[in-house]
Amino acid sequence: MADKDEIRLFVVGDIQTNCYAYVSAGECLVVDPGASGARIAEALSDVKVTQVVATHRHHDHVGGVRALVEATGAPWAISADDAELAMRAMEVSSHDLSVVMGGLSNPPEPDRLLFEGDVIEVGTASFEVLAAPGHTAGGIVLLGHGSAEGVAFVGDTIFAGGCGRCDLMGGDWGKMKKTLVRLSRLIDPAVTLLCGHGPATTMGYEVATNPYMRPDAERESWSD
Ligand SMILES: [Zn+2]
Repeated sequence: MADKDEIRLFVVGDIQTNCYAYVSAGECLVVDPGASGARIAEALSDVKVTQVVATHRHHDHVGGVRALVEATGAPWAISADDAELAMRAMEVSSHDLSVVMGGLSNPPEPDRLLFEGDVIEVGTASFEVLAAPGHTAGGIVLLGHGSAEGVAFVGDTIFAGGCGRCDLMGGDWGKMKKTLVRLSRLIDPAVTLLCGHGPATTMGYEVATNPYMRPDAERESWSD
């Protein structure tokens, strides 16, 4: 990632979602505003928010979209396969938790539907959309190019030492396994993975140590 670009992290909502702002040449891409959309807009008042993207449809990743796009006027985008359910995210509870939905709202209709290979531009950076089904049907990963070379937003697909649950509606462990193997081939080991929850990691470290990244990985419990 180029020195002049900047990544800001906002940890938001009831299950500590990482919302990221990628700032390049005065423009800003916001990834996964899961809550606190108005506060995120305020914190980004020194830049122009030009694009909002959700990595997948779960309420803790889209709950702040409406307030953020209303405050900034930025268009928002999500994969075509997750768009329909994203607009009902507050009714379709994503996790088996008694979540408090206060302050969150369903996002409006997306301005853009994303597909494999699409490109999102921000300043001198661009992000390639990689389809990553498994945690949800339409999960995506955003792989940085240009001045964002070396970073990827991976949502709830890869965590440091783990991967997203596949026992929720639309989840599919078989697809997740294929996604993890595909991503490990497409993304350079040196790339920093910015996860939807928890700390950042690198692809190389996860390939070497994460049991779910192995092609023969099995998973029976989804309690974490
Ligand atoms: Zn999720």
